[in-house]
Formats: sequence, C-alpha cells, structure tokens
Amino acid sequence: MGDEACGVTDTFEQRLARVRERMRRACARANRPPESVRLLPVTKTVEPDRIREAVAAGIKAFGENRVQEARRKIPLCPGGVEWHLIGHLQTNKVRPAVPLFVWIHSVDSLSLMGTLESACDRAGRRMRILLEVNVAGEASKFGFAPSQVSEAVRAANACPHLEVMGLMAIPPFRPDPEEVRPYFRLLRQLRDETEAATGTPLPELSMGMSHDFETAIEEGATWIRVGTALFGSRRTVEEETA
Ligand SMILES: *Cc1c(COP(=O)(O)O)cnc(C)c1O
Repeated sequence: MGDEACGVTDTFEQRLARVRERMRRACARANRPPESVRLLPVTKTVEPDRIREAVAAGIKAFGENRVQEARRKIPLCPGGVEWHLIGHLQTNKVRPAVPLFVWIHSVDSLSLMGTLESACDRAGRRMRILLEVNVAGEASKFGFAPSQVSEAVRAANACPHLEVMGLMAIPPFRPDPEEVRPYFRLLRQLRDETEAATGTPLPELSMGMSHDFETAIEEGATWIRVGTALFGSRRTVEEETA
C-alpha cells in the first residue's frame, strides 16, 4: 500500500477508481448492494483546486473536520455539493457551522445537541445528525458512551430541527483492520439495540477510513469517510504548503 496505493503521480480519477473497486469487492463479500454504501471524501488540508477536480470526477458530498477551515474553503468550491462535518464541534462554532453543513456526523454530547437545536431553530434550518459513540471508551476521544446512546436518541427526537439518522465512530487506529472489526460490529449492534429500545429508525452507520473501510463495509457501514486513499498523505500536503 502506501506510495503505491496513492502515488503522487496518480490522478484523482485513478485513485477514485481504486477506492470504488475496493468498495465494490467489500460489498460483494458482504452480499450488500453497492449503492447501500456511500463514499464521503474527506478534504481536510485539501485546497479548493483539488476539491474542484473531485467535483469534476462526480463527487457530490465532502467531509471536513474543522469549521474554520470549511468556512474559508467552501465559498471557493463549486456549488451544488453537500458538506458534512465529521470532526468535534465546539459550542462556540455551532452558529457558523449551521449554514455550511447539511449533516453533522459528530454530535457527541447532549449539551452540543441542545446548542445545535437552538442554532438551527434561529436559522430556520433542519440538520441531519449522527451520534458519535466512543466505542473503545478512550479518554482522548469524544462521543457518547454506548450506555448513553438510547437517551441521546430520545433527546434528539425531542429536537424539532434535528433529524437523527444513525451512529458514527472513530475506533482506535490499528494497522491490521481485523483488529478494528470488533468496534465496527459493536457500533452496528448498538444501533440495532437502540432502534429496538427507542423505536427510532437509525439507518446510517458512519464508520471506516482509508485503511479499514472494507472491514467497516462488511460490518454494515453506510458512509465511509476516506481522505488519504483519495487525496494522498496529508503530511505531504502540509509540507508542500508549509
Ligand atoms: C481525517 C478523517 C478521516 C479520513 O481519514 P483517512 O485515514 O485519511 O482516510 C475520517 N474520519 C475523520 C473523523 C477524520 O478526521
């Protein structure tokens, strides 16, 4: 993998074709229709000229992890695409985030949910949200504990401007994706249990990144968030722009 998988001389279209092929094979292994998994290219640190290339190749939704960076770049990118926030949202960034994004994958606390509901109310907008779950109980990560998720879904149901679509997780990094599988499985089981407990459909599972998305697809991912495999190593990009 590494350089071979995302060599700097490759075009975006070549890297996209490889990612789509990996997605197609994972869906075939899992007996899932290919259209049941959507690709969310992650454009953090990627500048608008390269985002334009991705739009020209047919990409219609992108993920950003920081509000400041998204606020600077989105006006420089083609219209008609949707932006998803995938990183932690600080309370003081909620108001600028609302007009930029149509999905927020990283709703990670009840207080953030409340702030987001008021900001969407004030802006006259509805927002699709996913509840981020801290699947490995890591102190360094944001997210609801698995035991809090049903309560969080009920709280979201009480917010008229929020539409809770499902769950999201950023499991611990492991070089071997097989070691991440139990966390993906846990998120899916938690989703099934939460649907049963709350009666709320939670169709979406946002899980899987460049090196482990096949495993995530096998375990039920509906959105995979892919940066490096499409845009190359971010360290290189940062060095180039430093
Ligand atoms: C950066 C990022 C990704 C993409 O990671 P890659 O390993 O580059 O594919 C996915 N999800 C989140 C939350 C991220 O911040």
